[in-house]
Amino acid sequence: PLVLGIESSCDETGVAFVRGTTLLADAVASSVQEHARFGGVVPEVASRAHLEAMIPTIERACAEAGSRLADVDAVAVTSGPGLAGALMVGVAAAKAVAWALGKPLYGVNHLCAHVCADVLDHGPLPEPTVALLVSGGHTNLLLVRDIADDVQSLGATVDDAAGEAFDKVARLLGLPYPGGPSIDQAAAQGDPRAIAFPRGLTARKDLERHRFDFSFSGLKTAVVRWVQERERAGEPIPVADVAASFNEAVADVLTRKAIDACLEYGIHDLQIGGGVTANSRLRALAEQRCADAGISLRVPRVRLCTDNGAMVAALGAQVVSRGHAPSSFALPADSSMPVEMVQAL
Ligand code: ATP
Ligand code: MG
Ligand code: FE
Repeated sequence: PLVLGIESSCDETGVAFVRGTTLLADAVASSVQEHARFGGVVPEVASRAHLEAMIPTIERACAEAGSRLADVDAVAVTSGPGLAGALMVGVAAAKAVAWALGKPLYGVNHLCAHVCADVLDHGPLPEPTVALLVSGGHTNLLLVRDIADDVQSLGATVDDAAGEAFDKVARLLGLPYPGGPSIDQAAAQGDPRAIAFPRGLTARKDLERHRFDFSFSGLKTAVVRWVQERERAGEPIPVADVAASFNEAVADVLTRKAIDACLEYGIHDLQIGGGVTANSRLRALAEQRCADAGISLRVPRVRLCTDNGAMVAALGAQVVSRGHAPSSFALPADSSMPVEMVQAL
């Protein structure tokens, strides 16, 4: 079946066509630059940008796929989690298309879709697999027994998401928004061992209760303090070294816990997804440590890690292929949809 996927949970309007695990078209319009001067996504601005971009992006995806909407067999849409107003634009568009065509509608989870994006590059996920989801608003370690049916959370951040930490530290260092790519670039020039920043929730006493949880707010505070002390002493801030040391701390904890989860559950496959997966140090360290531990690593190309419609269509295709009942036309936009809920009814 040909699946149309629509994404609008944050600041990317994404529309894509997928058949099985084959990506036929992937159109994305981003409002990221409209938010840059505010240093973060402004929900009202994002919703309005989705409204303006939705129909042109659908038309672009159709042209790219050489398909008409009438060719579509099913419509998948992100129903949550994300910004309520932004989600509503995508959900309304998906309902309109599905209703007009008389085709089934599937509301799917944005976070599970980040994990599922990988099938477009590497084929069906091994099951079970451990998945590390690292994005702007979420950080989860998942046990995926079936991406369309059975996703279990092993742990999550107890405070900031990984991407949020990148964005906040970048702002502190005076690097441009969005922070993730800026820190990644600055870190390339720096020494990751220059400063020993803390690794959250890795002390023995924390591991008892938070074995697979993460914490990044202590790390952020440590960076703030380190920078302030330097300023007070009238010394220059070695931005590249701070960025590299911070990036190392994040990549170290993420990969360490992900691999520990694989070992604990006797699983030989690790999938990493979400916007922070674009990070070059995270990719390199994950590769190295997985190779050392005999774990096979799956990371999709960067374009599939950040928000897009392709991942939504890909998850929709998995749900359709399992023969799941479609969602109702009363499908809500669920801003706090839990990660274990793959499909909204
Ligand atoms: P969520 O998926 O949790 O709803 P989101 O959709 O806003 O949040 P994504 O688009 O998946 O998040 O990812 C965006 C985040 O990824 C931002 O915080 C951004 O700073 C971060 N990011 C992007 N590129 C990089 C990079 N090279 N290194 C580190 N972080 C990055
Ligand atoms: Mg974005
Ligand atoms: Fe996302």
